[in-house]
Amino acid sequence: MSDGVIDLHAHTTHSDGSASPKELIAKASSKGARSIAITDHDTVDGFAEARAAADGFGIEFIPGIEISADFSPGTMHILGYLIDGESPALKEQLAMLKNAREKRNPEIARRLERLGFDINYEEVAQLAGNNVIGRPHFASVLVNKGYVRNIQEAFDRLLKKGAPAYVEKARLSPRDAIELIHGAGGVAVLAHPYQLKLSSYEAADELVAELAAFGLDGIEAIYSRHSPVQRSRYSEIALRHELLITGGSDYHGSYKPDIDLVTGLGDLEVPYALLEALKTRAIAGEMKPGEKGIESAGA
Ligand code: AMP
Ligand code: ZN
Ligand code: FE
Ligand code: FE
Repeated sequence: MSDGVIDLHAHTTHSDGSASPKELIAKASSKGARSIAITDHDTVDGFAEARAAADGFGIEFIPGIEISADFSPGTMHILGYLIDGESPALKEQLAMLKNAREKRNPEIARRLERLGFDINYEEVAQLAGNNVIGRPHFASVLVNKGYVRNIQEAFDRLLKKGAPAYVEKARLSPRDAIELIHGAGGVAVLAHPYQLKLSSYEAADELVAELAAFGLDGIEAIYSRHSPVQRSRYSEIALRHELLITGGSDYHGSYKPDIDLVTGLGDLEVPYALLEALKTRAIAGEMKPGEKGIESAGA
């Protein structure tokens, strides 16, 4: 049976989402989803709670992650699916990425202070809880203090790339991000390609060719903020390079209030068949350990 809708991109309180893993699973179930992936930034800490909740709700949980890669002019995020959250190599790299955030985040707070905002890092950390702290948490504190009307305004005026309080953080290269995911037994997918801010689909096609040579497995063509034209053009690019097509909402709860789980901006519909193809590719990858690095072949 390959019927049903799914959502392969969602964040929880373990990164910059506002719903706990359990709340997210409950919501996915109430929205009629058959499967749901959690793709928190740089952490797998939501998996255990999500697994237990998914069992209770009779819904399929897909372990995922979202990793930021080095790229300009825009943003490159690589999604990893069906990863082993216990992989030592993965854990080690995630600790390194957390470190890079802990270096960057206080600097964002200092910039905001210098710009005249009464804000300190402790209150941002407190809002985020003991989790991966990201820019949406800074945005939320700015909203709560009445400096901006909403999260989007905080990004547009202060936090987005190139804005006055933006601070770079150390990232993995695209190739290292893909290899990290493969090393943990997962499938690597280019997230929301419109955020790369490339000048044309031809440029996107060339980039995808490069990433495919590093082992990229798929493209998130079906994305809440992609127009129908973007969805079909990025799907064509995926097919041309024999890559998977995936889809998801990028639900963040109150941190991205216009995006709903499963349905995105209202017109999102990700078919279960895409997940079947993903699983097939994951199995095919396991049978070719030579292409996935020594670590996955060994231990
Ligand atoms: P960080 O990983 O801490 O740099 O934060 C990245 C997250 O901030 C993304 O996953 C989005 O949730 C959010 N974000 C980044 N850029 C924007 C933007 N221009 N507008 C709104 N949210 C954004
Ligand atoms: Zn996010
Ligand atoms: Fe992203
Ligand atoms: Fe995301």
